[in-house]
Amino acid sequence: MEIALNLALYLVPLGLVWAAYHFARNRVSRRNRAILAEAEEAGLTEPASLHPLIDEVRCIGCAACVTACPEHKHHVLGLIDGRAQLTNPTYCIGHGACKAACPVDAITLVFGTAKRGVDIPVVQPTFETNVPGIFIAGELGGMGLIRNAMEQGKQAMESIGRVPGMGGGGTTDVVIVGCGPAGIAASLSAKAAGLRYVTLDQDSLGGTVYNFPRGKLVMTAPVELPIVGRTRFTDTTKEALLAYFEGIVAKADLRINFRERMDAIVPVDGGFVVKTPRAEYRTRAVLLCIGRRGTPRKLGVPGEEGSPKVVYRLMDPEQYKGQHVLVVGGGDSALEAAASIVDQPGTTVTLSYRSEAFGRAKAANRERVRQATETGRLTVMLKSSVKEITPDRVRIEWDGTTRDLPNDAVIVCAGGILPTPFLKEIGIMVETKYGTA
Ligand SMILES: Cc1cc2nc3c(=O)[nH]c(=O)nc-3n(C[C@H](O)[C@H](O)[C@H](O)COP(=O)(O)OP(=O)(O)OC[C@H]3O[C@@H](n4cnc5c(N)ncnc54)[C@H](O)[C@@H]3O)c2cc1C
Repeated sequence: MEIALNLALYLVPLGLVWAAYHFARNRVSRRNRAILAEAEEAGLTEPASLHPLIDEVRCIGCAACVTACPEHKHHVLGLIDGRAQLTNPTYCIGHGACKAACPVDAITLVFGTAKRGVDIPVVQPTFETNVPGIFIAGELGGMGLIRNAMEQGKQAMESIGRVPGMGGGGTTDVVIVGCGPAGIAASLSAKAAGLRYVTLDQDSLGGTVYNFPRGKLVMTAPVELPIVGRTRFTDTTKEALLAYFEGIVAKADLRINFRERMDAIVPVDGGFVVKTPRAEYRTRAVLLCIGRRGTPRKLGVPGEEGSPKVVYRLMDPEQYKGQHVLVVGGGDSALEAAASIVDQPGTTVTLSYRSEAFGRAKAANRERVRQATETGRLTVMLKSSVKEITPDRVRIEWDGTTRDLPNDAVIVCAGGILPTPFLKEIGIMVETKYGTA
């Protein structure tokens, strides 16, 4: 009797701890399975580039990687049945903090997956490609993150400065294409080295950072830059980082041609001609800092080109208060844009998509759109196409009829044209990685 009592005294608390642990573990697994299932249903299962590959035999389920992931609010990683998994893969941007945090070395960082290859241009340690005179820095070369891009932009320009004939006058030494973190650091280095440089960007200063959602928390690391010295911040906001970039441009008096797209690079004797819609630049070298996100796909309809009311991503829903807005597209970004603008007072929103259903968007976004449509705040036009944009109207073909709608703003979310075909066209070797470290 006494033995039984003693056993109960120890076993009951142990049993309770065990039950509590299993209850918590099952709850976490259930929640993470649901996140994964939603991503799978929407076809959002492939990470964009560098991401963790988790060895489930080694993983001890300590969740150190889950906690360390700077994108944890998007549930990029989660525990399922006591093992870490990529639960929301498309939100992984390759910080690599999970690998550093794993106490049992169960994480390898890889490019691409068995199903989806990722194209990475082949570059030498000097950042020069197989085409002599063309260099690549930043995320285009496969290594994402702001600090890495800046460090690479700086180092690539140091290599360019060592190319014989640089700084010899007579022609531009280097055209820097792209003015995100890599292009900014490269421009500073070119200026510091006394090179004759031209920096172009099809958009505005900051590259991908410029397109982060308002107020996004940015995690980065200090970097030593020419002219302006060492950056001090680690965690900051999108706005503070852009203000810092603007400060750099002003302090170093960098000359940057914004809204000028590089369309072609043609080899000529002793260098290249970089062609844009505005000019042709004769140069000894080219540094591509164009990132991996490509150029937004346009509609190609009359009135679109150059129209100040047409944008290719939603920046801030509030700016559309009281306006007639047309959103074009059927993926998550289009549905998210439409659903967040309808909440603005006095706004009318139309969502136009050429297919018959929003097959490739997350269930939650489809639901938001359904609810907004039911309450009459949003008009959805499936199987429709935009025909023309004028300063105060849009013309849309829908159901066999053409309609003219009052319009103040058009947001086109039709994906992007990736840079790889262009790289191949100009002779740069590209390797496709299928889950390679
Ligand atoms: C949602 C999200 C969140 C992120 N959060 C973080 C974070 O917290 N911390 C972090 O370190 N990193 C983060 N990153 C990654 C980081 O933004 C990128 O790794 C970094 O911006 C890469 O810099 P880059 O200069 O190589 O390219 P980009 O920043 O992509 O800049 C490329 C530039 O090239 C221009 N360009 C492209 N094609 C042409 C052309 N033909 N002609 C002229 N210009 C052209 C583009 O307009 C753009 O300005 C995040 C990325 C995303 C998508």
